[in-house]
Amino acid sequence: MAEQTVRIMCPSLGCRKILAVPSTSRGKTVKCKSCGGTIRVPHMRTEPPPAEAAPAPAPAAAAPAAGKPTK
Ligand SMILES: [Zn+2]
Repeated sequence: MAEQTVRIMCPSLGCRKILAVPSTSRGKTVKCKSCGGTIRVPHMRTEPPPAEAAPAPAPAAAAPAAGKPTK
């Protein structure tokens, strides 16, 4: 399996650069190549691939582990 990359968007207003970082960077901070700001890489995927046009999944009514803050 190929190395997975995580796509994150720079939170800096006026930058909004989409960065692709290796999945090994999850939980760490990376530096934005555009503005030089530090961005924390979340453990979970924050954005789906732009090419993917999957319909929004129905909200799971009975999710046992739904107590995690995603943002
Ligand atoms: Zn930036």
